[in-house]
Amino acid sequence: MKTIDDLGDLRGKRVLVRSDFNVPLDGTTITDDGRIRAALPTLKRLLDAGAKVIVTAHLGRPKGEPDATYSLAPVAARLGELLGQDVALAGDVVGDSAKATVAALEDGQIALLENIRFDARETSKDEAERGALADELAALADAFVSDGFGVVHRKQASVYDVALRLPHAAGTLVLTEVEALRKAVEDPERPYVVVLGGAKVSDKLGVIGNLITKADKLLIGGGMMFTFLKAQGYEVGSSLLEQDQVDTVKGYLAQAQEAGVEIVLPVDTLVAPEFGSDDFETVAVDAIPADKMGLDIGPKSGQLFREAILGAKTIAWNGPMGVFERAAYAEGTKAVAQALVDTEGFSIVGGGDSAAAVRLLGFDEAGFGHISTGGGASLELLEGKTLPGIAVLED
Ligand code: ADP
Ligand code: MG
Repeated sequence: MKTIDDLGDLRGKRVLVRSDFNVPLDGTTITDDGRIRAALPTLKRLLDAGAKVIVTAHLGRPKGEPDATYSLAPVAARLGELLGQDVALAGDVVGDSAKATVAALEDGQIALLENIRFDARETSKDEAERGALADELAALADAFVSDGFGVVHRKQASVYDVALRLPHAAGTLVLTEVEALRKAVEDPERPYVVVLGGAKVSDKLGVIGNLITKADKLLIGGGMMFTFLKAQGYEVGSSLLEQDQVDTVKGYLAQAQEAGVEIVLPVDTLVAPEFGSDDFETVAVDAIPADKMGLDIGPKSGQLFREAILGAKTIAWNGPMGVFERAAYAEGTKAVAQALVDTEGFSIVGGGDSAAAVRLLGFDEAGFGHISTGGGASLELLEGKTLPGIAVLED
């Protein structure tokens, strides 16, 4: 990949940076600024080089039009604090305000464009539509640095199309992420254990097929465990279940058995009548009450997973084991995180919520081999896929 060095002298040049500032918000309060901090090395480097830095990013899922709920204003404020300098926030994506904000930049100053997903063309499937937005973005700058690792698996205007229109390079974050994750993909030290959890069952079921041929063991927790349990004939009460994926999962279980890959499912789970409830009990997975939902793996499962992780040389983890946002359902996720810290193997944490969980639960980031800022992007790299936002930087 091209690097920032390849861009030459940047003094006085307008450099457009795609960052990943898709941080969790509670109202306008950022509850985890990990992704903003991860963007700092590239931004500081460009600012120190005397560039005029223009950052584009998305936040949440606005519907292709301006929506104050998803304004990047809280991000601009936090970024300013972390950089120790003002971050000008444009009132639009590529309109008059963006143009004026960029025009006002002096060398070593930084501006943030408003949420790129306020413009429907960003995520359009139509290349011409995306291209039109990319043209407008490119007109604001002299060079492009791709550093939003969390979005490099997306063929979007600010990730992919704009790189075709400007001299471009990978930022420090993208370089670090790709190096760490490729190590696990191309030549993992074995045993290679993959821990999967989280809520978006169908999102991750797709990658399991690929991991079955690569990993030695797959540990399944989180919401997706219930689709696996169902596929094995268990009743899962009112737990998160994707009924239409049960057959797919049955196929995976058979495939794994044939390939000699062990799929380890939880043996117990914490159940409660509803999400917000603290009225929970631990039950075996063959005794989930019909009117209760599983919100975390149980202590026996935590121990089972821990042993598998301690025995591994490479561990990739994506997706919390339970609804860790509530302390009552964070123990399973804590157990896995602790095992990743304690293991002598190289541990990789992927997934926005998993990385946030690690910090929220008070773990020291230095205890892990690599904490990825990307969810989908890290999973796709682990699958060995070619990511459009990476490939475009490799020419
Ligand atoms: P990541 O961002 O790390 O890839 P996901 O976005 O897939 O993870 O999933 C994170 C979410 O999964 C968390 O908000 C968590 O509350 C939820 N989750 C975990 N276990 C369960 C469960 N048993 N039932 C419902 N939601 C769950
Ligand atoms: Mg997530």
